[in-house]
Amino acid sequence: MKGEADLHEAFDIDADTLREECGVFGILGHEDASALTALGLHALQHRGQEAAGIVTFDNEQFRAERHLGLVGDHFSDAETIGRLTGMAAIGHVRYSTTGETILRNVQPLFAELDGGGIAVCHNGNFTNALTLRRQLIRDGAICQSTSDSEVVLQLVARSRKGKIVDRFIEAITQMEGAYSLVALTSKKLIGARDPLGIRPLVLGDLNGAPILASETCALDIIGAKFIREVENGEVIVCTPTGIESYFPFGKQTARPCIFEYIYFSRPDSIVGGRSVYDVRREMGRQLARETQVEADVIVPVPDSGVPAAIGYSQESGVPFELGIIRNHYVGRTFIEPTQQIRALGVKMKHSANRSQIEGKRVVLVDDSLVRGTTSVKIVQMIRDAGAREVHFRLASPPIRYSDYYGIDTPVREKLLAAKYGLEEMRAYIGADSLAFLSVDGIYKAMGYDGRDNANPQFTDHCFTGDYPTPLTDLSGEQDFIRPPRLVEVG
Ligand code: SF4
Repeated sequence: MKGEADLHEAFDIDADTLREECGVFGILGHEDASALTALGLHALQHRGQEAAGIVTFDNEQFRAERHLGLVGDHFSDAETIGRLTGMAAIGHVRYSTTGETILRNVQPLFAELDGGGIAVCHNGNFTNALTLRRQLIRDGAICQSTSDSEVVLQLVARSRKGKIVDRFIEAITQMEGAYSLVALTSKKLIGARDPLGIRPLVLGDLNGAPILASETCALDIIGAKFIREVENGEVIVCTPTGIESYFPFGKQTARPCIFEYIYFSRPDSIVGGRSVYDVRREMGRQLARETQVEADVIVPVPDSGVPAAIGYSQESGVPFELGIIRNHYVGRTFIEPTQQIRALGVKMKHSANRSQIEGKRVVLVDDSLVRGTTSVKIVQMIRDAGAREVHFRLASPPIRYSDYYGIDTPVREKLLAAKYGLEEMRAYIGADSLAFLSVDGIYKAMGYDGRDNANPQFTDHCFTGDYPTPLTDLSGEQDFIRPPRLVEVG
């Protein structure tokens, strides 16, 4: 039962991956706040390519620029940055999981409250946002977007607490799910991480200006110093006079998302004190220990498969070669190939490097397998380049469960490993053999003896089905018949 993926369809290795939903950045007390935020978002572009936005405060008013598209397309000209005046700014890059890709869902979202304005941006997904939104609308709230993140603003607005920080804390203590939040008021830069710390958030400093960002790569690009991770369940408040922390959820054991190491975070980022690159290479080493096969060459599926393939090669002693070449200049402007061109099976983004493949037993190493549609084409492309054998190795366990914490995963039925066993998956992608890193193996690569099933060290439910928080919106108690909505047609 070979996967019937249309081999003549234009070929894109990135088509069948999980997508991270969003990156956040904020800075307080720097004259180039908006330019630095644009650079920080550029470094976080891998966390969301659909839209980007920046809000600044210039001691008089908040200023906002939000656009559909990439950061570089909208925030690299002096004119735009010039309009975003002020010593404080927050920014967001987006890949939507809830809420359409429309301008009114582009973050940061803003609300005018009694006592002043507040802008908020969010990485993650609230698993009770629909339930809360419904209650808010019943109580007369008027929602400006269809994004789950707006619920936080609505709850801050409804809080009867005096101080904005107390109102913010009252709001987030009603939220479930995964979140890293960055907010800006006229006097404060506020950050918050959910009680388990599922999504990442770090604190940095640039010449005395505090910075909050999803990943350390956003600090590196502007030469800022890494101070520390924002802790799980921490609300951090930066003001011109210093930094305060609150822990409204009490102490809980952190369970960060393990997929940040497998795929989402940039290899040059440090997450939880670990180099993402080093962890991926170690996952490759562990994969070789667990799934070795006689072979002549180790070939990564670029780019995310590279560190694991290097580790696999180092552990197995089989040479590593770039057997798949990526064309970095495809971009979006390339004319859509005509049907007859497509029928040639053009390989727009990736092609086989025949000299490293022909007549050889090839081990292909990739970070993860989702629907399997792209893997079918990769195996076929390597066979077409003359490989004697093709063995497929994944540096993560089979993905059998959907996410709900801010990752765009297909519905369960579309996940290959949720449908098929190992042998059926091997036959589907057309490889001579197929193997995944085990769940315990991925924990060993992180430096543990294995998964602590009583107290799991990470959030890993796409592999284990062990969801770490309630999933109220999915509990089926609420029938979410969505009322007719406004669709912007002009
Ligand atoms: S399912 Fe869990 S482990 Fe997998 S990506 Fe989502 S939060 Fe991370």
